Amino acid sequence: MKKIAVIGSGFAGLTSAIELANLGYDVTVFEKNSQAGGRARKFDAEGFIFDMGPSWYWMPDVFEKFFHRHGKKIEDYYQLVKLDPGFSVVYGKNDAIEVPSSFDKLVDIFEGIESGSGSKLKKFMSKAETKYKIGMDSLVYKPSHSIFEFVNGKVLKGLFQLNVFTNFRSYVKKYFTNPKLTKLMEFPILFLGATPQNTPALYSLMNYSGLYQGTYYPMGGFHEIILGLSKLANEKGVKFKFSSNVEKISITSEKVNDITVNGKKINFDGVVAAADYNHVEQVLLEPKFRNYSNEYWDNREMAPSSLLFYVGLNKKLGNVKHHNLFFDEDFDEHAKEIYDDPQWPKKPLFYLSCPSITDPSVAPEGKENLMFLIPLAPGLKDTEDMRETYFKIILDRLHQLTGNKIEKDIIFKKSYCVNDFKSDYNAFKGNAYGLANTLRQTAVLKPAMRNKKVKNLYYTGQLTVPGPGVPPSIISGQIVANEIHKQLKKAS
Ligand SMILES: Cc1cc2nc3c(=O)[nH]c(=O)nc-3n(C[C@H](O)[C@H](O)[C@H](O)COP(=O)(O)OP(=O)(O)OC[C@H]3O[C@@H](n4cnc5c(N)ncnc54)[C@H](O)[C@@H]3O)c2cc1C
Repeated sequence: MKKIAVIGSGFAGLTSAIELANLGYDVTVFEKNSQAGGRARKFDAEGFIFDMGPSWYWMPDVFEKFFHRHGKKIEDYYQLVKLDPGFSVVYGKNDAIEVPSSFDKLVDIFEGIESGSGSKLKKFMSKAETKYKIGMDSLVYKPSHSIFEFVNGKVLKGLFQLNVFTNFRSYVKKYFTNPKLTKLMEFPILFLGATPQNTPALYSLMNYSGLYQGTYYPMGGFHEIILGLSKLANEKGVKFKFSSNVEKISITSEKVNDITVNGKKINFDGVVAAADYNHVEQVLLEPKFRNYSNEYWDNREMAPSSLLFYVGLNKKLGNVKHHNLFFDEDFDEHAKEIYDDPQWPKKPLFYLSCPSITDPSVAPEGKENLMFLIPLAPGLKDTEDMRETYFKIILDRLHQLTGNKIEKDIIFKKSYCVNDFKSDYNAFKGNAYGLANTLRQTAVLKPAMRNKKVKNLYYTGQLTVPGPGVPPSIISGQIVANEIHKQLKKAS
């Protein structure tokens, strides 16, 4: 049985480990932290259970497909509910759109805001559905070694429908003029970590997921998915080593010979690096074995970092939903401060997740579990004072916009920002979501999955194909397993 090491236990590490164990390998996952999940870890405090990272469950078919591949169903591991409303976008005081789970109801809401936009939304969505289907069937499950992987009948036939070379903002403006509707339509692609001006309209497939398929929630919290995948991995025989920091990957004759974990060398036949790509290359490998230089990384457009606050509240909130986007300030100004002129935002947009509205198990009775998130430029100077300044800003805005005054009811609070992303995940510049999905950084133009100089070393996760987000990381793990399997078979 050939031995494979997987470095990192985020979504990509877990799914690649499951796939490889299923293919008959002896798989060990090494994780520097004390629990699985990476950016999707959780912690418990004062009776609250906080998800530390992802909270939006979109593209449910990707999760389903993954479990089905292994003869399982999602319900074997966690219970999914569809949220209604899926989310709320707050534009000002008493001014919000609640996105219903029913698409027909959303069409009516659009029509009520801008005459004629209901039928345009249907048209937009039908095209987005085509993109989603072509994307899922023919684009995202590719290793992206070569452009020729994408030359097939379906893609060529759909080429003009994919809008690869149109930018997302101008595409949306062809359909809608009301700023509330354009902001709402631009929101789903923020998950891709780039601005609407810089994102190909191809990614309106995200609108199909968020506004048509709907927003789901795993009861118990997002971390239930990690527990489910860990259980499946255990069932397949995957071994886990926690608190196991990989310090070095040693190469002999163009092959990984061993990895050093907590000071000890261990031999493997192959390595899947599911930790941040930049860290693996620039820290664990000697320069001559790296795919990319420091200069290459400095020229990448990273997806944002974030300032997060996990807050336990001694009362219930009114006037908020499970997912709340506070879009009352100018998105373009905030985006400039993330991408063009990196600095702490003057008037940030922010997001509030309140899972205890749906799920009583994540907070004690009568209390509320909150997570606030402000997207930030990666690499900003992160200080306690700065974090506190922004906490005050968002509490004031929450009060103004929703009437909820919460300062005196906070019984638990923890912040998380750039420095934590660096120290917990070895994240390049403290990024939260990896690499931005711009046209220049899509598919074959992303950091490659295979190491070009070391035959049995492969990369997976949100910094390589297909990109940032939980569903892409699951797909990434699936693709990489197949790639290293092909290589090891060829070599034996
Ligand atoms: C705050 C936040 C909110 C998000 N919200 C959403 C959302 O709502 N929906 C969505 O779909 N996506 C969301 N995302 C993105 C999503 O969480 C990520 O894209 C995905 O989890 C990345 O998975 P990964 O496996 O690539 O990386 P990671 O989860 O980062 O896993 C990498 C692992 O490698 C480990 N590691 C690093 N270095 C070493 C080493 N030397 N030795 C051993 N182990 C090491 C790390 O500890 C980590 O566990 C969010 C991300 C963040 C941070």
